[in-house]
Amino acid sequence: MKKGKTFIISGPSGVGKSTVLRALFEGRDDLYFSVSATTRAAREGEVDGRDYHFIAADRFRAMIEEEAFLEYAEYVGNFYGTPKKYVDEAMEAGRDVILDIEIQGATQVCAKRPETVRIFIAPPSWEELERRLTARGTDTPEKVQKRLLRAKVEMETAYDYDYFVINDTVENAVKELRAIMCAEHCKPAERMNRILKK
Ligand code: ADP
Ligand code: 5GP
Repeated sequence: MKKGKTFIISGPSGVGKSTVLRALFEGRDDLYFSVSATTRAAREGEVDGRDYHFIAADRFRAMIEEEAFLEYAEYVGNFYGTPKKYVDEAMEAGRDVILDIEIQGATQVCAKRPETVRIFIAPPSWEELERRLTARGTDTPEKVQKRLLRAKVEMETAYDYDYFVINDTVENAVKELRAIMCAEHCKPAERMNRILKK
């Protein structure tokens, strides 16, 4: 059976990653969303175990010691990490894995697993990014400013990514993500391996 591929989705906070991924996952059992662990508090509507594993800082440190993370990073005052076990299990089962992670984590994953595909999601404009962050209503004005400052740094790293998707409408962004994932499965190495049953 073919192994799944890993796709990293990065982009500034508030660009719409969660929204676009929710639409991408509709009716797709062949995809696996990697649920990260985080020390940040849950936002209204977020569910523990579905959106994130919300854990205390000492538990997060213990997981680092146990080498349970494929990658982890600090982002705007909180820790975020990808539990390795579930990613590997999903790939072995032939499912494509989606990691919604920021740029430091993306760099760590690609250093360990260079075959990982990196997709950057950008806003149609700065004004629209600020509008979305504010409209979401989950961050104080100070946090919104911190996230916007961080977004400037993140946008500069976009050239290191394999693909660049602009989230103007959710529909367009999902269409492009599906096209990218499909194209990545049409690479000669993967197709030849299937034919030759390597
Ligand atoms: P992220 O996961 O990247 O931090 P969210 O998915 O939480 O971002 O989206 C931030 C806000 O922007 C939400 O209020 C969401 O409804 C809105 N949003 C997402 N995509 C779009 C879009 N294409 N057009 C308009 N609003 C959007
Ligand atoms: P938020 O607090 O808005 O949910 O996420 C903040 C940032 O953390 C986003 O850029 C998101 O992609 C990133 N993030 C979420 N989970 C992980 C993770 O497991 N590892 C890393 N490195 N970043 C993550």
